[in-house]
Amino acid sequence: MTAITLKDQFGRSIEYLRISITDRCNFRCVYCMPLEGLEWLPKTEILTYEEITEVVRQLAPLGLRRLRLTGGEPTIRPDLVALVGMLKAVPGIEDIALSTNGVKLPELAAPLRAAGLDRVNISADSLRADRIASIARRKFAFDPVVSAQSAEAAGLDPIKLNVVVMRGINDDEIADFARLTLEHPWHVRFIELMPVGEMANLTWEHVVPSEEVLRRASVHGVLEPSGGPARGNGPAAYHRFAGAPGTIGVITPMTHTYCGSCNRVRLTADGRLRTCLYGDHEVNLRDPLRAGAALEPIFRQALADKPKEHNLLQMQVGGLRALSQVGG
Ligand code: SAM
Ligand code: SF4
Repeated sequence: MTAITLKDQFGRSIEYLRISITDRCNFRCVYCMPLEGLEWLPKTEILTYEEITEVVRQLAPLGLRRLRLTGGEPTIRPDLVALVGMLKAVPGIEDIALSTNGVKLPELAAPLRAAGLDRVNISADSLRADRIASIARRKFAFDPVVSAQSAEAAGLDPIKLNVVVMRGINDDEIADFARLTLEHPWHVRFIELMPVGEMANLTWEHVVPSEEVLRRASVHGVLEPSGGPARGNGPAAYHRFAGAPGTIGVITPMTHTYCGSCNRVRLTADGRLRTCLYGDHEVNLRDPLRAGAALEPIFRQALADKPKEHNLLQMQVGGLRALSQVGG
């Protein structure tokens, strides 16, 4: 059977779904979640693992191939391993990725891999325990390098480390993160801070442009443009030191847009399909699903309305929902 490729109104093929499986988190990162005052979704409003799998089962024949499990922090939802196994069994699904803060990876990497997880993105904003705790505003005995090593040992590939760079907070570690790529086959990606959610005391002055990041990473040698990881190439532009096993990527949502090649849509923890991370392009899949309706017509209509590009640069700081709420 030939797979149908679903295209939006601008001809972009949609084959990638990011699934937020919880709005909760064991961290309170300064750029993502407020320390208190967030209202959690009631359990009855959150899609069950069976419902998530059913959404994927209905969208796979339309061309959906790749999934990313995210949140909130997906590893704090009980029995994540079972969900990965259920999704891997859906015909047509070729690739499953996870976004995590890495705290639980040492214990979960091997069972997740065995259940069918292919790759992982680990958020790592510092390599120093005290600083990790002050950015996450939670203290755990955990080392992101050990988390990445456990992911590598389990066979997850590629392994990406995502660093949100903030001037005066962690930008003095750019060179330390860059050095990891000389020692490990990992992809360190520096992300420009975005004006979403709770920004604590962060302002535009904390944003470090990618050109400056690359210049400061170059203390270890000349960085040449590189192809990046073989699988899961997203919006990052990759570079590599000569002979290094790993790469350095920069993701610049603030100064460049990737909308022209956007092939992704998002499913929130309460079952809303978002066709753009930014703005209000959202349709409810949960209620029709629970009523036994077919999702294909709703999905087609949502794609017809997928915006051409985001308007992040026109947004005010704090003017958007936190990524933890929409499945960043
Ligand atoms: N909890 C998981 C994690 O931290 O990887 C998955 C969810 S988290 C919302 C997904 C990604 O969004 C992380 O890499 C995080 O660093 C990024 N993120 C959240 N808020 C951001 C912001 N204001 N600017 C840039 N990146 C942000
Ligand atoms: Fe939690 Fe990830 Fe947001 Fe940090 S970035 S608060 S780990 S959801």
